[in-house]
Amino acid sequence: MSTPTTPYWVAGRPMTGNEMLEVSSPYDGAVAGRTTVATASDVEAAVAAADRVRHEFAATPAHVRAAALDHVSRRLSERSEEIAALITAESGKPLKWSRLEVARAVSTFRWGAEEARRWSGTLQRLDTDPSATGRMALVRRAPRGPVLGIAPFNFPLNLVAHKVAPAIAVGTPIVLKPAPATPLTALLLGEVLAETDLPAGSWSVLPVPNDVAAQLVQDPRLPVVSFTGSVPVGWSIRDSVPRKHVTLELGGNAAVVVGPDQDDEKSLSWAATRIATFAMYQAGQSCISVQRVLAHRDVAEGLTERLVDAVGRLATGDPTDPATDVGPLVDEAAARRVETWVDEAVAAGARLLTGGTRDGATYAPTVLTEVPADARVACEEVFGPVVVVDAVDSLDQAFARVNDSRFGLQAGVFTRDLQVAFHAARVLDVGGVVIGDVPSFRADQMPYGGVKDSGTGREGVHSAMEDLTEERVLVLTGI
Ligand code: NAD
Repeated sequence: MSTPTTPYWVAGRPMTGNEMLEVSSPYDGAVAGRTTVATASDVEAAVAAADRVRHEFAATPAHVRAAALDHVSRRLSERSEEIAALITAESGKPLKWSRLEVARAVSTFRWGAEEARRWSGTLQRLDTDPSATGRMALVRRAPRGPVLGIAPFNFPLNLVAHKVAPAIAVGTPIVLKPAPATPLTALLLGEVLAETDLPAGSWSVLPVPNDVAAQLVQDPRLPVVSFTGSVPVGWSIRDSVPRKHVTLELGGNAAVVVGPDQDDEKSLSWAATRIATFAMYQAGQSCISVQRVLAHRDVAEGLTERLVDAVGRLATGDPTDPATDVGPLVDEAAARRVETWVDEAVAAGARLLTGGTRDGATYAPTVLTEVPADARVACEEVFGPVVVVDAVDSLDQAFARVNDSRFGLQAGVFTRDLQVAFHAARVLDVGGVVIGDVPSFRADQMPYGGVKDSGTGREGVHSAMEDLTEERVLVLTGI
């Protein structure tokens, strides 16, 4: 049976171009599906439609936008097994994590519906000044204008959801460009969006190559760019359009600190299991994967032992097997890069505690220690299943090491000490600190984003709604 061609979406309508785009699994090359590259005239039609409907969409009643978001949430839930299988097929993400990703997107859209109902404004009195007697101001947040959403490959549904749901919630059109490796899930989301009553023109999903995406970045009809992806691409986009509103959700080399009070069996096992799981899940291809572990010297040996043991128990292999914990990277080139970085660290004196082997696009979960500070596995973003463990003499030293990075997304601190928790929140240069767990935690309602090279602006449904809008004031006279 031949593989059907999945349409792309232009102003809410399914379209097909001439240039075929075949998508296959990085695990075994099995064809996940195929679509076509959006044609130049379709790209133009999508942008023109977004520009045309922007005022109409902003004026759409909240109940219509909330109903659309609830519908998407419900349909994603109803189709969750099919969507999870698609995410696994195109990205190589183990099925158990794909299922979790769908569940998260169901919640993102549901939360979007709730926020759309709450989204309001404030009334401000102005008559505190004699010259403003009889005046009041209605302050509301209005969309800045249509959004260009650019998404990475590692969460083909969830990171798309984090762009689409807030845009619908505030009533601003979105032109979405999914990652070239994983467009099919975003296109399936298009099918679900097409079932709603949202105005035609309020959304498009366009698989286009990077040069076309770069042209879209320049298009003045898309004054907002919401980008999730790598550091160099993100900042070069922002530098190329200084007058636009650009949100960047970029990479990191997230650290976790294990405090000296974690010296009992229960605490050590919990920390080791969480670190193993979230250093290796998605083969380390999450912007908040644990990459660096800074364990207080009192607990470092016990933690490392249990960590190596927990990593050894992870099932690596076929991502379609529900028991698999760690699957392939996005492609063999990515796995080769990780291999090179680990090999060069070992050549520079690092000790390999487990892993260090590659089979095609799959890299074995790897734990390193005694890694030189300037090794790329320590100071760059690995984006692979590799974790670096180090002993530190004090929490102050640990926090200084967390900050000794050009990145700053999130950090985790295993401690029972509330004073340490507050201190960490004060001194760590990151977008978020997670106490009692790894940095890899994210919930849809919390602000999420980075400092330093890791980005600018915040996502999380409510924060993204604020980011997509700006205050507009209506002054009322004679009341
Ligand atoms: P990438 O930067 O290669 O690509 C991201 C998107 O940008 C893709 O859709 C790509 O086609 C597009 N793109 C590439 N060049 C472009 C250009 N010149 N103009 C416009 N668009 C362009 O990133 P990736 O490899 O897909 O994703 C991995 C990266 O994303 C990692 O660094 C990871 O940390 C980061 N990430 C960050 C977050 C976060 O929320 N902070 C979440 C997930 C991933």
